[in-house]
Amino acid sequence: MNDSEHSILVVEDEPDIQELLHYNFTKEGFRVFLASDGEEGLSLVSSLEPSLIILDIMLPKLSGFEVCKRLREQEKTSTIPIIIVTAKSEEHDTIFGLDLGADDYVVKPFSIEELIARVRVHLRRYDLYRSAMVNQQPYDEFIRLGPLALASKRHIIFFHNKPLILTLSEFKILATMMSSPGTVFSRAELIKAITDDSHVHLIARNIDVHVLSIRKKLKDHAHLIQTIRGVGYKCVDQRV
Ligand code: CA
Repeated sequence: MNDSEHSILVVEDEPDIQELLHYNFTKEGFRVFLASDGEEGLSLVSSLEPSLIILDIMLPKLSGFEVCKRLREQEKTSTIPIIIVTAKSEEHDTIFGLDLGADDYVVKPFSIEELIARVRVHLRRYDLYRSAMVNQQPYDEFIRLGPLALASKRHIIFFHNKPLILTLSEFKILATMMSSPGTVFSRAELIKAITDDSHVHLIARNIDVHVLSIRKKLKDHAHLIQTIRGVGYKCVDQRV
């Protein structure tokens, strides 16, 4: 997709920052929409179905955290990339935002060039993911593990023959482990698997939260991911 086919929703209550983002992203060829509070942000996501959301944390009516949480709870909006924007003094809160399913964050005052670059990285990943979801020809081999089947080229993991709804980070963690059943991955290795070229800042606890979320989605097959105390995680090797 070209940038002009991508729409970006900016949810931000500070007029100066709204204007800065609107001006620069429009200049780069994106379609830009603005919301000034959390409620308006949520309603615009449903009506506009943006390609990416830039979400301030301190917002009137609903906080950015609440907006993020609600978007991730709905299947339709569960995979739209979200970049949260936070003040320097709230930087520690960004961990919480990433736990709620945000893909990345920037700290005010941020470099607009860096933000544009990160937006492009996330859009590229998202386009790949979406085209894989609609383009379901069986052109790659499955890696099977119990009721799970990984189609890595298509970026899909099937669970009981239905696509498992995962965030991109969750997908990468599970795909990494499924590709090598029985191999123990440290949290640092899993962070590397998630972040690739996107310069996302993650800590070990984020991995634990993602794994917890994946296990919930695997329901009574949560045991397929095992915790190796003091080391990390692995997918069980069913052949053993
Ligand atoms: Ca604000």
